[in-house]
Amino acid sequence: MSRNGCKVDAAVEDYSLESPGSDLESLDNYLLARWTGSEGYRSVGYRKLADWFNRQLLRRVYDEHGRSTTGPTVDSEYEALTGDDELVKEEVVTELEAAGIDAEALVDDMVSPRTMHRHLTGCLEAEKERETAQTDWERESVEIARSQLEQKVAKAASSLASKGELIGAEAADIDIGIYLACPECATRVPFETGRRQGFVCERHSPASVDVELAGTGSVTTDRTSLDPQIDTVIEAITRFSM
Ligand SMILES: [Zn+2]
Ligand SMILES: [Zn+2]
Repeated sequence: MSRNGCKVDAAVEDYSLESPGSDLESLDNYLLARWTGSEGYRSVGYRKLADWFNRQLLRRVYDEHGRSTTGPTVDSEYEALTGDDELVKEEVVTELEAAGIDAEALVDDMVSPRTMHRHLTGCLEAEKERETAQTDWERESVEIARSQLEQKVAKAASSLASKGELIGAEAADIDIGIYLACPECATRVPFETGRRQGFVCERHSPASVDVELAGTGSVTTDRTSLDPQIDTVIEAITRFSM
């Protein structure tokens, strides 16, 4: 399959995309590392990778046409091109065409999350733990919240960069970690780690869970006992990202 390749492979070739990580030779290696959370990268979802990939395409084309790839304009144009508002999209397409960029072709070359997923699992034959869980809405929820938060922060950073108040922020990777903190002590674990190990704090989880359950009268499994904390995290993120 990788011989002919998919839409992702075609775009990598056509746009000469390279790995942004100097330690990883190819873009495919970079995508794998980010998706599976190896080589020191935190694991991200394929939706986010598709979004990242498409932004790289846009930046590459802008670069080639001497159009600025920094500042809030790039982000708002990307959102316009990939958004649902046809009118807004048309406006940006026209503007880009005036600058010599075939925006329709560019958008056509962008990949969907599904295509990215197929590229990772098909062409690259990668597997992600727990990918098989079809109804992992908890993970999805956190992923969505994180990506919304990232977009908001990126926008703010971009704006500060364009005002010269935060040099380099427009190209910075926004790194948002979600942690679960033990209410009893200083223990903090990344959300995913907590989920993998099945508890937040080794010392206090069983006890605090008991107390909580006694109060709410709810049930028994470890999983259920973590839910209130997860809800709180999601609530906090959602509030912050409004
Ligand atoms: Zn592929
Ligand atoms: Zn603790």
